[in-house]
Amino acid sequence: MRNEGLGSWPARRARKTPHRTALVHGERPTDYGTLYARVTRLAHALRARGVRRGDRIAYLGPNHPSYLETLFAAGTLGAVFVPLNTRLAGPEIAYQLADSGAKALVYGPSHTGLVAGLPGSTDVRTYVEVGAEYEAALAEAPDEPIDEPVTPDDTCIIMYTSGTTGRPKGAMLTHGNLTWNAVNVLVDTDLIADERALVSAPLFHTAGLNMLTLPVFLKGGTCVLVEAFEPEATFDLIARHRITFMFGVPTMFDQIARHPRWAGADLSSLRILTCGGSPVPTPLIAAYQERGLTFLQGYGMTEASPGTLFLDAEHASGKAGSAGVPHFFSDVRVLRPDLAPVEPGETGEVVVRGPHVMPGYWGLPEETAASFADGWFRSGDAARVDEDGYVYIVDRIKDMIISGGENVYPAEIEDLLLAHPDIVECAVIGVADDKWGEVPRAVVVPREGASLDSAEVLASLAGRLAKYKIPKSVVIADELPRTASGKLLKARVRKRFGSDS
Ligand code: ATP
Repeated sequence: MRNEGLGSWPARRARKTPHRTALVHGERPTDYGTLYARVTRLAHALRARGVRRGDRIAYLGPNHPSYLETLFAAGTLGAVFVPLNTRLAGPEIAYQLADSGAKALVYGPSHTGLVAGLPGSTDVRTYVEVGAEYEAALAEAPDEPIDEPVTPDDTCIIMYTSGTTGRPKGAMLTHGNLTWNAVNVLVDTDLIADERALVSAPLFHTAGLNMLTLPVFLKGGTCVLVEAFEPEATFDLIARHRITFMFGVPTMFDQIARHPRWAGADLSSLRILTCGGSPVPTPLIAAYQERGLTFLQGYGMTEASPGTLFLDAEHASGKAGSAGVPHFFSDVRVLRPDLAPVEPGETGEVVVRGPHVMPGYWGLPEETAASFADGWFRSGDAARVDEDGYVYIVDRIKDMIISGGENVYPAEIEDLLLAHPDIVECAVIGVADDKWGEVPRAVVVPREGASLDSAEVLASLAGRLAKYKIPKSVVIADELPRTASGKLLKARVRKRFGSDS
């Protein structure tokens, strides 16, 4: 095959295991042979509608087989796939469509209204709605194989970062980047061909696609696609499909562990649970380990496809709280501001290099240049390294609070607050202070039905943290602003809860 990219994966899988189940959606299974045929037809249909190599094809909709079919069809044509976040508002979608210069948009019926209201000023000329229109396009198209030459260095996806720290940037991920990331996952976990993965993390974010779905696909396992994560339904899905492998951000695993069904649920099929995407609180790790479950931690970022650090099963208990060591084909350093490596115990910035790291941001040469130092991608995250080389993510450097000249990392305080039985969510932010410049403030969401006051929250921290790290004020809130993937939007927390007015 001249296609050395992701677009060739369905053909390669169909050649090896045509009858194994690739995807399950609702009650509908699709085997690898059928998936390959559908991808080929979709690629023909898109080509007939004017899509050519290098063109961008956007996708807007919840987890669904058509997401993966569009990704692979784009890869078959040498076109670039642009997944869009389903929670974005019309103008935000319009921005990403215009920014990426997408020529075609495949969208789910949940977004018909939003798509109808998009401005005509984007480059999108082809719209395909998933459902009858999509199926008709496939039915009309031929199924002759397409063997477009695609190299590992060609761009496969433009994936927008979460936008937790500003306007989302389009990370250009090559076919090679995504392949090496999947290889890293396969090397560092014990994934087998019989894996049954629950894909309830959104596929439009890097982890749901790259830490879960693509490695399972490469191995020939089954992905059960779920449109939206719900803790209640998760118990049913685990039981019905005998799920073996899950990835989730900490809030997802937290909601499962706090659910009334947790204590009595049969979780015996679960072999591998991977958690990452934001700081993983140690009480959460403990809750899963007490159940005898293998709870692994991954650290990464969209720009690194995303797997960067990984804590494997062997060290999950001994090094709990650490994000582990670099993936097999990844190199990580923790550097001082002068770019010298830190000593054990000292805090510095995580930088990463490897075949899974993006070549740059789409259309942003200056941001690309600023985000690399000597070929190393600068994560913007603060971390410590222990004597054995295990990395402990401390927090985002941007979220650090400087109080009276002391550096305060909110994640450390949040970890302790979350151990309080009546606190389900929290965020620590810096607020202006005449004397100290900035002081920490805790915003906490109490457990339903619990009565919680500031004094009690502060009392739970007394003696466990240096005085300058103890929040000077506490706000009790109903909920915290999060992204679609469950990540805390600290900038919005600061905006909403950061002033006294
Ligand atoms: P933007 O770049 O647009 O601000 P973002 O940084 O949230 O968005 P992502 O690529 O989705 O974009 O997230 C990567 C970030 O998530 C990392 O830089 C880190 O701050 C955080 N993160 C990921 N995994 C972990 C982990 N295991 N522990 C702590 N933080 C993590």
